[in-house]
Amino acid sequence: MKTLYAGGWIVTCDDAGSEHESGWLLVEHGFVTAVGGNEEPQADERVDLGGAVVTPGLVNTHHHLYQTLTRARAQQADLFSWLRELYPAWAGIDAESEYAAARTGLAELALSGCSTVFDHHYVFPRGRSGLIEAEVQAARELGVRIVASRGSMDLGVSDGGLPPDELVEEIDAVLADTERLVGELHESGPGAHVQIAVAPCSPFSVTKRLMTESAALARRLGLTLHTHLAETLEEDAYCLELYGCTPVEYLADLGWLGGDVWCAHCVHLSANGIADFAGSQTGVAHCPTSNLRLGAGVAPVRQYLDAGIRVGLGVDGSASNERSDLLFEVKQALLVARGRGGPEAMTAREALRLGTRGGASVLGRGDIGSLEPGKCADFAAWRTDGLELGGADDLIAGLVFSAPHRVDRLVVGGEDVVRGGALVRADETEIARNHRMQARRFAT
Ligand SMILES: [Zn+2]
Repeated sequence: MKTLYAGGWIVTCDDAGSEHESGWLLVEHGFVTAVGGNEEPQADERVDLGGAVVTPGLVNTHHHLYQTLTRARAQQADLFSWLRELYPAWAGIDAESEYAAARTGLAELALSGCSTVFDHHYVFPRGRSGLIEAEVQAARELGVRIVASRGSMDLGVSDGGLPPDELVEEIDAVLADTERLVGELHESGPGAHVQIAVAPCSPFSVTKRLMTESAALARRLGLTLHTHLAETLEEDAYCLELYGCTPVEYLADLGWLGGDVWCAHCVHLSANGIADFAGSQTGVAHCPTSNLRLGAGVAPVRQYLDAGIRVGLGVDGSASNERSDLLFEVKQALLVARGRGGPEAMTAREALRLGTRGGASVLGRGDIGSLEPGKCADFAAWRTDGLELGGADDLIAGLVFSAPHRVDRLVVGGEDVVRGGALVRADETEIARNHRMQARRFAT
């Protein structure tokens, strides 16, 4: 079955930055087989895009889906105070609430044009099972791709860490559970819908041994590695006091820099840190809204890009960015880059590229992030006849500068996930109702 999507402004995000103003996309068996702007090819079915802007599906590179349950807390807090206030609430997470939270966060992301979501889950209260399985189930039901991490914390407050002792785990149990999840859920190869990554939480909540053994496990199983890094100046001071070095030096010492690693935030990298990231091909998940919400600062992303660092975007968890809207994050990345470096610091197309190609590269996914023959048929179609884009001649710049609230259509692997601005496979009202019910249990 060949389906032709025609009559849209196709932004391919390929190496040449090709765009087809009156373009088409040919899809077969979930993959793009051709893209162009000339005469339309033959197909079994023709879908009219109605003049929409079509971008690759957006790729989210950092999230904590469970945090939708605890929004708008610790409203004036910095990172460490925010964490200390929220850890006790997060200790109440179980599979049922995780499922409700994941459906909410994933639905929000899908409605913002996001087709692939990385989730960093690191809270595993004792005796609760099925948390990762719950979020994978939610992703499968909605139709988006998920890279779910089996995260971890093993450095409790009594050992000099930040999390309460009841939320930390034993190293062997973490590693064994990670390997179990990989065996049960991880898909490899182009078009994978579910993948597992290894993601110890952060240098201030994880021991050196768990960091090292996590890297060894990931490399043995061919998985990617992720952690939080250099989010705040307090973290710099913590690292210096505990380990006698900067967060980047600490990672380097652990063998944690490399093309299979990406780190969230990286707001505070020194010139040496930038050179280390670039030289080792370590990636960055840039989360500007969360960094602003917690007053952590603004990552110098222009410098990262100029140094050749791979950069993707992340909405981060909903306790530090109450809205899981990835197109809004594309706009935010552009605005903060200009806030730091002036109006030429980032173009609209560069910002869009961070949210597509950049994210795919950071996740180590060569099969998504652009619309080219052989890539997954993951794309977002944005209406151009609504309130936001009217009056813009350059519709791509118009899309990024305005960041419309909803995508019109989201296709993942050739299947509709959003159509007419509504979820195809789930009821948004029911998701919200169930989520409100679950979130009540977390109320203070
Ligand atoms: Zn985070």
